[in-house]
Amino acid sequence: MRILVLGGTSQGRRVADALVEAGHQVVSSLAGRTKNAMLPAGEIRIGGFGGAEGLYEYLIAHRIDLIVNATHPFAAQMAINALAASRKAGIGCLRLTRTSWATRADANAWIWVDSHDQASEQATAIPGRIFLTVGRQHSLDYAPLLGDRDVICRVALKPAGTIPPRWIVVEARGPFHADDEEAIIGSGVRVLITKDSGGTDTCAKLDVAARHAATVIMIRRPPIPGNQQVFTKIDTLMEWISARQTQASNRPS
Ligand code: NAP
Repeated sequence: MRILVLGGTSQGRRVADALVEAGHQVVSSLAGRTKNAMLPAGEIRIGGFGGAEGLYEYLIAHRIDLIVNATHPFAAQMAINALAASRKAGIGCLRLTRTSWATRADANAWIWVDSHDQASEQATAIPGRIFLTVGRQHSLDYAPLLGDRDVICRVALKPAGTIPPRWIVVEARGPFHADDEEAIIGSGVRVLITKDSGGTDTCAKLDVAARHAATVIMIRRPPIPGNQQVFTKIDTLMEWISARQTQASNRPS
């Protein structure tokens, strides 16, 4: 099959590698925001498609049989575009995403919010040092309300814009382990603001925050659009594709 993997995540890289290994023709698409991104096996294309319509045209021009949307759970626009374009092209669109942290036993102890604004507001009511891990794009959204607070802001790349003087920006890429998180949260962090990225690569901070009785403010994921097949495990997705191929090859021509 000719498969378009919408990537930009470690899961996207791993699924592209697995699909190439299984003999599929794979094109991985990256938004192009990360410098020196690790690249998967197969073809690579970089940059936006020009909305759902541009993606539809790409699917037709490149005779794509299936989309695997392995973008980050918070890449909401790409998810909407992928579904719309796949429907118009009459092909499948599978969602591969990390298991939500909402399924963890301690999830009820967290303050759940729907937006960065709400997270920022909630944090104003809690004194003490803040550990902010919401990604480069949105970190500075917290400056208006939390600009005069003690904030450790961890991002893969320093945000563009003015960093409030009391903030410490830590540039680092996951996975993060308990020791990494202990070094930050153990420095007197009282509030962790993060989003429900899910999976295991960056979940150690939740265990360490619990150990230090720090309050966790968790931003809920945007909903998955439409009624699509959702996978959290690459093996299960690979089995689904293989079963689908077998069905197609058994169909009388
Ligand atoms: P988004 O808001 O859903 O997408 C905005 C636009 O960026 C899309 O409409 C599309 O442009 C382009 N785009 C996004 N993903 C693309 C891909 N894989 N290939 C080609 N174009 C893509 O997404 P976002 O939150 O800005 O995230 C951008 C990328 O960073 C995604 O690939 C995502 O996996 C990765 N990422 C995001 C986060 C996060 O927290 N949001 C965290 C880690 C990694 P056109 O409309 O022009 O096609």
